[in-house]
Amino acid sequence: MLSQTLRECGVVGAGGAGFPTSVKARSEIEFMIANGAECEPLIHKDAELMAHFPAEIVSGMLAMMDATRARAGRFGIKSKNAAALDAIRPHLPAGRIEPTLLGDFYPSGDEYELVYAATGRLIPPAGIPLQVGCVVNNVETLYNVHQATLGVPVTRKFVSVCGAVHQPKSFWVPVGTSFRDLLDFAGGPTAPTFGIFVGGIMMGAFTYDLDEVDTKTTTGLIVLPKDHYLITRRDRPEQELHRIGKSACDQCSYCTEFCPRYLLGYEVMPHKVMRSLGFTLAGSELWSQWSELCCGCGLCTLYACPEDLYPKEACDKGKTERRAAGLRFVQAKPVQVHPMKEYRRVPQSRLRQRLNIDDYDVPCPYDPAPLRPASVRVRLRQHAGQPAAPAIASGRKVKTGQLIGRVDEPALGAPIHASIDGKVRAITPDYIEIVA
Ligand code: SF4
Ligand code: SF4
Repeated sequence: MLSQTLRECGVVGAGGAGFPTSVKARSEIEFMIANGAECEPLIHKDAELMAHFPAEIVSGMLAMMDATRARAGRFGIKSKNAAALDAIRPHLPAGRIEPTLLGDFYPSGDEYELVYAATGRLIPPAGIPLQVGCVVNNVETLYNVHQATLGVPVTRKFVSVCGAVHQPKSFWVPVGTSFRDLLDFAGGPTAPTFGIFVGGIMMGAFTYDLDEVDTKTTTGLIVLPKDHYLITRRDRPEQELHRIGKSACDQCSYCTEFCPRYLLGYEVMPHKVMRSLGFTLAGSELWSQWSELCCGCGLCTLYACPEDLYPKEACDKGKTERRAAGLRFVQAKPVQVHPMKEYRRVPQSRLRQRLNIDDYDVPCPYDPAPLRPASVRVRLRQHAGQPAAPAIASGRKVKTGQLIGRVDEPALGAPIHASIDGKVRAITPDYIEIVA
């Protein structure tokens, strides 16, 4: 059974929160949707993967369609990615999988957006694609599904390393490899001091730590000089962001008018959430409810706000506080697409300009040369659900693909496997370290 195979091989969503794919393979659906939209600026790894491994991706998609008895497949891909589209198209079985051609907008890869583009269906507020008969899988996840059907567990990750590096490129890397090794493989940084956006500028994390490692969900590293606008604005302490927001927000509501979730018909209103900054906790609850259906795409903060404020961060704060207080907002109004939605879409070119990263928008080609790190630290938590528990002792020799951490059923989670041949040097509460 495919679901069991995927669980044993540790397949999880490769493009987001790392939800175990085995659970998706157990559902019964109408539409299986491949997500090749890839809308984080500068990251091009899915486009490279589709251009070089189309047969494997489509094979994984067909395996998922068989397992879920999906009656149709939709392959979400941007028309501008001509090489990827030309590579994928001949592999799509006519009448079974149709391409869903997407414009070059942000954020076309959001599940709610993609399900709507592919099927015309709107996911219920705070819901998941399954509720409208759909399952969405990132294209790299589908590649990993194909590998699992051959008995190959997930031990490597396909990433783009781009921005201020000498050789921006996309490549396979063992899970647990340090960012230092990844940057070296891309020729090293071009700036003497720099920061790293992990997984994207819009929705990713940020770090200065070169000892951090890639996981099964790392999509790429974007290196920017430390004095770049995106880093200086990010480095402001949280208290300061909220203080500035409180005094400078003029309630123009541009943040709401450009919000993709609002335009799809969900009750997300970041301009109202900004009002929460001026109230006590009791008063702020009222305004924070407008943050609950926010997907954290970052467009309000990094594109829409003319005052350069932080409505997305206010939404993050609102969501955290409401969760802690056990509050839940239920949208009463039916979800109805805003009549201006199509006219307010944000082209990637305009977004790059606004982010001041146009100079870094260069090809990020696939490099098939192997990256062989001297050691890896494989994280025990790199998927949704329970972290893995070590299933190997320190000092033992391991082979690539050998099980080193497990999550016992029926708990949600995924096992982890050695990503290089070597010897287990250390086991900590966070990771298992292997030296080659
Ligand atoms: S766009 Fe900026 S200034 Fe306008 S309401 Fe939103 S946060 Fe306030
Ligand atoms: S981050 Fe801002 S633009 Fe994006 S969904 Fe949330 S409120 Fe809307």
